[in-house]
Amino acid sequence: MPKAIFSIWWDDRLGPMVGRSYPETTTLTSEEAVTIFMGHGVNQDSEIGYSKIRIGLVISFMRPPNCLGILLNEGDNSSAVERNLLRLVPHVDFNSDSWDKELEKAFLVLHDLMDETSGEELLLNPGVKQLVGDLIEKRIESIKPKHVMKATVRYPEAYASLGNDDDEVSRLLKDLEDEEVLESRTYGRRVECRQCGSSELTIELLCPNCQSDDIHKVYTVFCPKCSNQFHAIIADDLAEVTCLSCKQPVKVNELAVIDVEPLCNKCGTASNDPKIIFNCATCGKQLKGADLLSGTGLAYYFNNGS
Ligand SMILES: [Zn+2]
Ligand SMILES: [Zn+2]
Ligand SMILES: [Zn+2]
Repeated sequence: MPKAIFSIWWDDRLGPMVGRSYPETTTLTSEEAVTIFMGHGVNQDSEIGYSKIRIGLVISFMRPPNCLGILLNEGDNSSAVERNLLRLVPHVDFNSDSWDKELEKAFLVLHDLMDETSGEELLLNPGVKQLVGDLIEKRIESIKPKHVMKATVRYPEAYASLGNDDDEVSRLLKDLEDEEVLESRTYGRRVECRQCGSSELTIELLCPNCQSDDIHKVYTVFCPKCSNQFHAIIADDLAEVTCLSCKQPVKVNELAVIDVEPLCNKCGTASNDPKIIFNCATCGKQLKGADLLSGTGLAYYFNNGS
């Protein structure tokens, strides 16, 4: 279980400032606050940061100008802490007037979240029970990913009134058009397969030099055991990789990926700019420019004629 939680914030004149900590006995120096801020990149553009300081490993979440840091205990599973930090974020009031109380509450919620999503409690979750049963009874053989990018149409202006389920918002807008409360007019483009009308895509990477799809990805990853970075080629069906620094096996789901560079197996070209092919996830057709440009988006207006 994590040892402590910190708040740090950016001051335009002074840079990263140490805020509060909970428990109050574990504190940061201002150098450590800077280190944690830097864990998010020079422009603070990565949401999750990892940094190793004198008192241990800190995983942090950045919502400029605020940063929330979690200090891990020896033996904590860093990727589980990262997942629960992301689960914690919606429970935190980043504009709170009393950060003491807010941090104390956040620390307790984090512990609850970690309890609920591990061990006995996780296995008692009815959905989890069902899924495990399906796997044991071989109703499902394995849970494979489908890497699909959905070119979803979103209407953020309607979220405040209709909620933020994008599919449901689109349905309600169409309902309202049927009732002649709204009328739709063309607006921009959306991706649409001309063969089947689907807006779901899969992406394939090809070597920019020889067009081969036999591409390895060279990952720069963070080792949770020794906190060093190392390079690894990660193929399908691997459960573990060996850290090049500490030589220990690390489960692939515990690796935090810092960077990826594609490397062609055929001609050996390493390029950060591979050729990208879009395929329709429904019918498999390779999408060309016209598919990517032809679909018409719709904007909705109040129907004055109604
Ligand atoms: Zn290592
Ligand atoms: Zn190649
Ligand atoms: Zn299609």
